Amino acid sequence: MKVLKFGGTSMANAASISKVAEIINSDDRARFIVVSAPGKREPGDIKVTDLLYECIEARDREGVCDAALEKIIRRFDEIIKGLDIKLDLTPEFNVIRDQINGGAGRDYASSRGEFLSGIVAAKLLNARFVDAGDIIRFDMEGNFDSETTNRLVGQRLVGSDRVVIPGFYGKMPNGKVKTFSRGGSDVTGAIIARGVGAEIYENWTDVDGFMTVDPRIQEDPQIIEMLTYKELRELSYMGANVLHPESIFPVRKADIAINIRNTFNPSAPGTMIVPTKKYMSGQYTRTDRTITGIAGKTDFAAIYVEKSLMNSELGFARRLLKILERHNILLEHLPSGIDTMTVVIDAANLCPEDINAVLREINEELSPNNVEYVEGIALIAVVGHGMNRKKGTASRVFGALGDADVNIRMIDQGSSELNIIIGVENGDYKKAIRAIYAEFNK
Ligand code: ASP
Repeated sequence: MKVLKFGGTSMANAASISKVAEIINSDDRARFIVVSAPGKREPGDIKVTDLLYECIEARDREGVCDAALEKIIRRFDEIIKGLDIKLDLTPEFNVIRDQINGGAGRDYASSRGEFLSGIVAAKLLNARFVDAGDIIRFDMEGNFDSETTNRLVGQRLVGSDRVVIPGFYGKMPNGKVKTFSRGGSDVTGAIIARGVGAEIYENWTDVDGFMTVDPRIQEDPQIIEMLTYKELRELSYMGANVLHPESIFPVRKADIAINIRNTFNPSAPGTMIVPTKKYMSGQYTRTDRTITGIAGKTDFAAIYVEKSLMNSELGFARRLLKILERHNILLEHLPSGIDTMTVVIDAANLCPEDINAVLREINEELSPNNVEYVEGIALIAVVGHGMNRKKGTASRVFGALGDADVNIRMIDQGSSELNIIIGVENGDYKKAIRAIYAEFNK
């Protein structure tokens, strides 16, 4: 049995929701359906979730949210008419209006898009509606309570016929609604998949799958046929985002594969994201490729520290990292040489005072021969289990960059041989990605 989650574009209007129903009705194993709120119908449109945030702003400004809520009522009216179902959401909208006008918070308001979308989908599919508030639990600090949730999902859902569950939210023990971060319906789908022990978690979106590289940089990249959880982690850390990053944890615990699929092109196989150990033990096979994907991000900075005989100075790295910790700076990478250590940090949210203080403290506390601070570095991760023990991968990457006249500022390769990370100047970022892509797609 499967869990299928449909994103905002799939739930955007009657036409797309009809496609969703076709997909579900043509699959006997489609048992648990998780839905997002209606998203954008076309570029420039506003998602229902954002319209709900506007309701809160209108209430804070004008005392009531009625006019803002009207837009959402109209959107659902249009959907219900387009689907030709008998459903009157007036009682639900009355409660929502009263709650928001009575002071309900942002989490409650924003969760109502999924709540209503779930009611519509359940009606259309003739399925049971189970409110996420009854099965997804957060603690009083607002942290997701995975074990209580898992138990509740098991108790309430296992053995049911077709069920629709709204994504994105749950409740705290005091009954207050709490949401995940934006895009969190992906997380709900993964939680349900674990709780019911699904054979697979299908995540239906509006693209054919994970791409080998960002299509804004490289035209028409290939779709990745299969990705392990570890590869996904490396690629999404570097900015490849098709799936909410937190959705990996529940399914990984239960060794369930995720299949990214396209509602608007259902015959495409999409991307399979599979448990790493099942892939390693040969339970899943894919076309042999050296590199699975390339991802990257700009605007990192590097603190380069040089000191003679650094290698024989006990505790040098610890003292260096302590300085960063004191300033609450997260470490991204730490390439090192015999007498050098480079600390790569994400510079996007740093203020110059912090950096100056860090550099001063390094000088005072570590007495290095030289400290340099370099900004404007882009990191590119070349990821794939295929490079493990395959000779020449690094030389192909560096050769391609050399031929493209890209200066490499930093190299970091994990011992797992799952990735090679290269630092280049921000200005060379796109050129570097295209050169590496071309090298491995000849
Ligand atoms: N509707 C929420 C959002 O727009 C959650 C989701 O779609 O996954 O972020």
